Amino acid sequence: MKSIVQGVRRFRTEVFAEQREYFKKLAAGQHPQALFITCSDSRVVPNIITQTAPGELFVLRNAGNIVPPPGMASGGEAATIEFAVQHLNVEHIIVCGHTQCGAMQALVNPAIADGMPTVRDWLKYAESTRRILQDNYQDYTGDALVNIAAQEHVLMQLEILQTHPVVASRLVQGKLTLHGWIFKIEAGEVFAYDEADGRFQPLAGESTEETKLETVAKV
Ligand SMILES: [Zn+2]
Repeated sequence: MKSIVQGVRRFRTEVFAEQREYFKKLAAGQHPQALFITCSDSRVVPNIITQTAPGELFVLRNAGNIVPPPGMASGGEAATIEFAVQHLNVEHIIVCGHTQCGAMQALVNPAIADGMPTVRDWLKYAESTRRILQDNYQDYTGDALVNIAAQEHVLMQLEILQTHPVVASRLVQGKLTLHGWIFKIEAGEVFAYDEADGRFQPLAGESTEETKLETVAKV
């Protein structure tokens, strides 16, 4: 905790002191360009991996970057999406999963959620992902399966997003674009879903052999 409080002090004296005018402008209103939906995982930090400043991303985080269907009881996800699209007029929604995701690990190995009834309940919203894995990826195990889970899960959340009324409407108007991303932690690399190609591709140029994401083409 000490390092967190020291960080607040450092932010105040070093960072904020240099950006006082920028924050003053931000106080007048926010105009983020995107809604960024990602996992609560401490290793995935939206503003760092996208090198964006305060005010640029409207962020929704939960365990497993899950988008519950509209109308389902939830922790406020639908309200956050509605606010971002309807009120803030974001033009992009990015759903960003990641490698080594604890929620995906619990999805492929439910015993991990033993003793955590709330986590188990929450993961029911990812049942479609679990079913896709069970029926289509029997040959995969371990990290490879978890990372494939992250990819299939992102694609499924994009499908569910489109059933949220305000998202559906803006898509029809051509005023909103959806993006599916995977952040590979150890490579510091972002992969974006390429619809034409049917797979996740490195967003920032060619991936080296070591950083390549095991990716499965959609049929
Ligand atoms: Zn995660």
